[in-house]
Amino acid sequence: MVSTASRSLPIRIVIAVVAASLPLNVSTQELVGANVDFVKNAIDEYRRNREGAILADFVELLSMPNVAVSLPDMERNADYIIGLLELRGFTTRRLRAGGAPYIYAELTSPGAAETILIYSHFDGQPVQEENWEYPPFSPTLLDGPVQGGGQPVDIDQVEGHFGPEWRLYARSAGDDKMPIIALVHTLDALAASDIDLSVNLKLLLDGEEELGSPTVGKLIDENSSFLDADLLLFCDGPMHPSRRTQLVFGVRGMTTVDITTYGATRPLHSGHYGNWAPNPIMQLSYLLTSMRDESGQILIDGYYDDVVPLSELERAAIATMPDITEALKDELSVHTPEGDGARIEELIALPAINARGIVAGGVGTKGRNVVLSTATTSLNLRLVPAQTPDQVRKLIEAHLAEQGFHVVFEDPTPEMLRSHEKVAKLQWRGSGYPALRTALDHPMSLRLTRLMRLIAPDLIVTPTMGGSLPLHDFGSRLSAPIIILPLANHDNNQHAENENIRLQNLWDAMQIYGAVLANFGDM
Ligand SMILES: [Zn+2]
Repeated sequence: MVSTASRSLPIRIVIAVVAASLPLNVSTQELVGANVDFVKNAIDEYRRNREGAILADFVELLSMPNVAVSLPDMERNADYIIGLLELRGFTTRRLRAGGAPYIYAELTSPGAAETILIYSHFDGQPVQEENWEYPPFSPTLLDGPVQGGGQPVDIDQVEGHFGPEWRLYARSAGDDKMPIIALVHTLDALAASDIDLSVNLKLLLDGEEELGSPTVGKLIDENSSFLDADLLLFCDGPMHPSRRTQLVFGVRGMTTVDITTYGATRPLHSGHYGNWAPNPIMQLSYLLTSMRDESGQILIDGYYDDVVPLSELERAAIATMPDITEALKDELSVHTPEGDGARIEELIALPAINARGIVAGGVGTKGRNVVLSTATTSLNLRLVPAQTPDQVRKLIEAHLAEQGFHVVFEDPTPEMLRSHEKVAKLQWRGSGYPALRTALDHPMSLRLTRLMRLIAPDLIVTPTMGGSLPLHDFGSRLSAPIIILPLANHDNNQHAENENIRLQNLWDAMQIYGAVLANFGDM
């Protein structure tokens, strides 16, 4: 921790605190609390007078097509973003490791001892333009959600304030160009009020996240000296549906396998051969039920051995989260969720075997009365700390062997099928990646949580999200703990048509960035 002696609070703030008649022996926490309010108000006031200008910058950035496979598009985006950053005094570098460009930017703050690295990405998912209500690269402001009948608003014609529930529709409005726009205007707002950053600020803006950031590992390896930081704030993904400010401390890992089982080498008449010919669909069904039970509990020997259970602190954090179980059941018409009554937030902290598809034969008019030759399932395996894709792979292969399968990795020959009771072909899709979870009681976690509670007293602390992000690429290479700060509305439609950002989320993001950057070093 930085002592207040090595970096004192701005005099202005101390004066403001005294003027507010707080006792002179106020604790650091209270001083920071007062400064948080001061910063939030300063940013709010700045923003209220410039909403149109902020949105104009955002519209310009969102007008640039940004599907990562188009390198010229990504370069144009990078040029524009680098321009925005250099205007604010950042030193920038365009980094490449064989794929789309990344942007590294750095803003040092005199007297700051620590560095926060912020990640976001400026590429977006491909678009199917015909499904969009308004063209994805012609950003359109609506006075409400499109499905609620929101109508277009001309940004230049707005007098007074923009409605907080208005939404800007465009690809990447929510995922994930918003943090870039929020940040640069936050810095303007801080500068306008003479508020110093309490930390050095570094940015890593990814130009190929939606492709799975294929070169990020190499890129970090080649540039690790720049990326040195005390905390990595990962600003991507949607916020909690309650709209409460949220910190997320982990993600699940993932790996995928297709499994094929075999009957006779050609489909056989089910009347003449049924009860004699081995049935691959039934074999696959028995195999799947041997892997997990109806509640989702995995039955594979040793599957939970590497799993780090939730800590008491993590359980306590989950217990204070809004319970969405009943709302989910209603919304999704579910009578009995899996998991034997455990909360969803606890269940997503466990490994999962999700059968994402089964392909075999046909149904309805495509059904034939045969015993098939093959059946295939695709399993999407969600991993949690400290499982590794390699270990999971070994356990699954061992389980198949234990179930009597001869395991192969290419199409089996007729001789192979003739000489083994049961054969299964496994196709591992990609190498997968492990999960990541930062401890809630890591010193940086505690400091950020404390500060965020001053910014948003009803903060939600989420030990892990259920989804997977390749954060391990960062976690295994950088020493900084990683904490996810989601800023986009949960209903931003990311990856789909009609992606949008709710304006209040953009304004809130500016306040959060401002209060964090101005105060983190003083916590
Ligand atoms: Zn994203």
